[in-house]
Formats: sequence, C-alpha cells, structure tokens
Amino acid sequence: MRPIEYQCTVTSFRWLTPTVFETTFEPQKPLEFKAGQFVSIVIPGAGPGGRDLRRAYSIASPPETRPVELCIKIVEDGPGTNYLAKLRPGDTFRAFAPYGDFVYKPKPGKNVCFIATGTGIAPFRSMVLSEHFSAHLPAQTLCLLGVRKEDELLYLDAFDSVAGVKFVPTITQPSPEWTGFKGRVTDYLRSLGADFNWVGTDYYLCGNGAMITEIKTLLAEKGVQKDSIHQEIYYR
Ligand SMILES: Cc1cc2nc3c(=O)[nH]c(=O)nc-3n(C[C@H](O)[C@H](O)[C@H](O)COP(=O)(O)OP(=O)(O)OC[C@H]3O[C@@H](n4cnc5c(N)ncnc54)[C@H](O)[C@@H]3O)c2cc1C
Repeated sequence: MRPIEYQCTVTSFRWLTPTVFETTFEPQKPLEFKAGQFVSIVIPGAGPGGRDLRRAYSIASPPETRPVELCIKIVEDGPGTNYLAKLRPGDTFRAFAPYGDFVYKPKPGKNVCFIATGTGIAPFRSMVLSEHFSAHLPAQTLCLLGVRKEDELLYLDAFDSVAGVKFVPTITQPSPEWTGFKGRVTDYLRSLGADFNWVGTDYYLCGNGAMITEIKTLLAEKGVQKDSIHQEIYYR
C-alpha cells in the first residue's frame, strides 16, 4: 500500500487525559492500513517561510473500524499538536497514509510483549483490537504502559477486553493510593527475572527514544536476539 493523500473530516474531539486528546476522523476515500501504521498530517504554514510541516501519528483504532482514531499528547508550543488540538467536528485536514512497518508479525510459538510510554500505546491498541491479531493470537501477550501519574493512563478498557492480554500500567510518580507497579516499564520488565521467557518472546517498543534504548540494553543482557525486537521511536 503506497501512501496517498487524503482529505479528512474530524468527527469527534475529546480529552482522554489532562494532556492527551483523541481526534477521530473520516477520510474522504477508503483508507486501507495495517494495525500499527501511522498517518502523516500536514500542518499548514507552520514551517520556515510559511511552508507546510508534516507530523506523524500512529492510528490507535483497528483497520476494520471507522472513524479512524488518533491519540495525541499536547506539546507546549508544538506546531503540530497545537494545530490538531484546535480542530473540531466538521473541520478538515490533509494527511498522507499509510506509513510504517511497525506491525504485528506473528511468529509461531513465540509470546509477545508490547511496551509503550504515553501515547506510544496507540499502535498497540490498534494491533490488539485488529482481526489480524485475533487470527494469530500469541500464547501469551504482555502489554506494559509507562506514565508518570495515574491520570495519564490511556485506553485501560481496550486492553482489558482482549482475552489473553495481560495489561500492566507502571507509574513513576504515583499517588499514595496507587496499588499497582511503581517505577518505569524497564523496572517492571527487569523485575520479571528468570521466570520470564525472555528469548521466547517478541518485543514491540513504542514511545520515547530513551525508554527504547534502555529496554534494548536490558534485552541484550537477557540474550534476546535483535530480530525479536521491533521499535517505533516517537521522539528522542
Ligand atoms: C512514527 C511516529 C508516530 C507518532 N505517533 C504519535 C502519536 O500517536 N501520538 C503522539 O502524541 N505523538 C506521536 N508522534 C510524535 C509526533 O509526530 C510529534 O513529534 C509530536 O506530536 C510533537 O509535534 P509538535 O509539532 O507539536 O511539536 P515539535 O515542535 O515537533 O516537538 C517539540 C518537542 O516535543 C517533544 N515531543 C514530541 N512528541 C512528544 C510526546 N508524545 N511526548 C512528550 N514530548 C514529545 C520532542 O522532544 C520534540 O523535540 C509520533 C512520531 C512518530 C515518528
């Protein structure tokens, strides 16, 4: 599927957390994509000399459902996120899609571990809700989402509803009431120790570059081969 240009109409806007919003849209012509791929949105006139910019956003909904859903963390003074945060139902924007090779590649006999920070959970939501994933369920799926505070957690219901997926939120600065794991996704993964099937698992990492580097260092220590690790870096 080669990326082509789409005119998109916003169908809904809502805040999912204090800093992350969800925008849904309908493309004006059929948009085919694989779970885990992203759209490249045109940010009009926001570049040097009034040129357009492009920003990438993973699709958070599965290929089989419409409207298409995005979840976007607002970045202070960021041209892309501030443009998108102003769009409301009926507004239109331009995008090119689909892009990316960060898709679920089933491997017989292997478990799967999805690891995200923040909005890096978007492609994993698309994957686990997709028909492709249901048709090629791993024996075990672990999904880790790391955020700073409880109110930054995203899409908890989506993962609860998928049979066989163990979803673990990890929080670095939780409130005193938090009874879940305190620390980073890396800390949680390390805590699994020798009981975890390190080499029998395929890893999908998405979010900030520092987390991805740390996890890859840990996986190398555990003897995990590079071809078992897939990554999508949102920013460094
Ligand atoms: C393949 C791909 C998929 C992506 N999918 C998503 C997505 O689904 N949701 C999403 O929110 N972002 C996603 N991003 C990041 C997105 O493309 C933009 O970089 C981000 O929205 C900032 O754009 P901006 O123009 O507002 O700010 P910019 O001026 O481009 O960014 C300013 C700075 O903000 C930091 N930054 C960027 N993204 C974040 C973030 N999420 N959290 C904290 N700091 C950040 C970076 O250090 C960056 O240098 C994705 C990036 C890639 C490469």
